[in-house]
Amino acid sequence: MQIMSRRLLGGLLCLALPLASCCIEVHLYVPQLLRLSECPEQATPRILAVVAHPDDETAFAATLYASGARGLGGICDVVVITNGEGGFKYSTLAQDLYGAELAREEVGREKLPNIRRTEMSAACFQLGVHELEFLAERDHRYTLDEGEVLAEQAGVWDLERVRQKLGERLERGRYEFALCLLPVPEAHAHHKAAAILLLEAVAALPPATRPVVLGVASEGEDERVEPDPAGLPGWSITALDASAGRFVFDRRRRFGYRDALDWRIVVDWAIAAHKSQGTLQMMAGEGAREVCFPFAGGPRDGAARAAALFERLAGVIFEVPEYGSSAGANVVPPAR
Ligand SMILES: [Zn+2]
Repeated sequence: MQIMSRRLLGGLLCLALPLASCCIEVHLYVPQLLRLSECPEQATPRILAVVAHPDDETAFAATLYASGARGLGGICDVVVITNGEGGFKYSTLAQDLYGAELAREEVGREKLPNIRRTEMSAACFQLGVHELEFLAERDHRYTLDEGEVLAEQAGVWDLERVRQKLGERLERGRYEFALCLLPVPEAHAHHKAAAILLLEAVAALPPATRPVVLGVASEGEDERVEPDPAGLPGWSITALDASAGRFVFDRRRRFGYRDALDWRIVVDWAIAAHKSQGTLQMMAGEGAREVCFPFAGGPRDGAARAAALFERLAGVIFEVPEYGSSAGANVVPPAR
C-alpha cells in the first residue's frame, strides 16, 4: 500500500493549488492512501469518517479538527468512496486555475478525479486528518435514488470491494466512533449509500468491537434538524436511537486570546480547499452547528460514549498564553 509522506504531499499541494495568473494543468497523482499526520498508537478519540465525495467532510470539519491531530490529538481517518468527478457543473471559477474546461462534462469527468483528490488531500491535511483513503469508485450522477448505487446489479460501485475495504479498515483501526452524513430521504443517493455501507460494515463486526456510528448534519443558526427516527424507508439499519437525542458541536463557540476565534475558521479552510466546487464555496461562513445522531443498532452504551466525546470537545482544547504589554492589545472582532 502506497503512503505519501507529509513533506512530499506538502510540496505537491503547493504545486497543485492555483498559481496566480498562470494556467497549469494538474498532472499530480494522489495515491490511494495518504498518511497526513502522525499520531501515537494510543491516541483518542479514534474516529473513522466515511463519505461519498471529496468535500462531504466539510459537514463535520470542526468535529474532525477538534478531535484530531491538531485538536485533542486523536486519530481521525477518512475514507472517500468516489473521486467526485460528477461535480463538474459548478467548476466554472476553477477552470482557469487548473487550465481545463472543467464545467464541460467530458473534460470534468476526465480531469476532476485527480483535481478533487488533490483538493481533498489539502482539506484533510489542514483538518489534521491522520489517514485519507480513496476508493476511487464512480461518481456517476446526482440522484436521490440510492437503489441506483446499492442494487446488487447496479454496477455503479464495486459494492463487494467497498464492503471489503470498509471491513478491513474498521478491523484494523479499532475506532471508537464512525461518522457519516445523516441519511435522510432528500439527501444525495451517494451520501445515503455511503452511510448504509458503513452501517452494514460496522454491523458485521463482533459486537464488542463496534464503534458508535453517528449520522451528522450541519445546522443553520435558526434551523433545527429533526430527522425521522425510523430512518430511510426500506433501510431499517438507518433507524436512529431516539432515546439518545442529539450531540452538538457548536462551530460558533469561541476560544483563543480574548475569545476572538471560533470553529467556523477551520470549516472555511476545508471549504476553500475544494476550489473546483463552486456551490460549496457559497456555504463558507454558513452552518452554526454540527449535529450528530447515534443509530439505533449501535452499542448499548453508545449514547454515553458520544456524550463523553462531546464533553471533551466542549472543553478547553487550546491554552491561551499570558501576554505582557509587549504584545499590545488590538480590538476583539465582533461576534458574527
Ligand atoms: Zn457529496
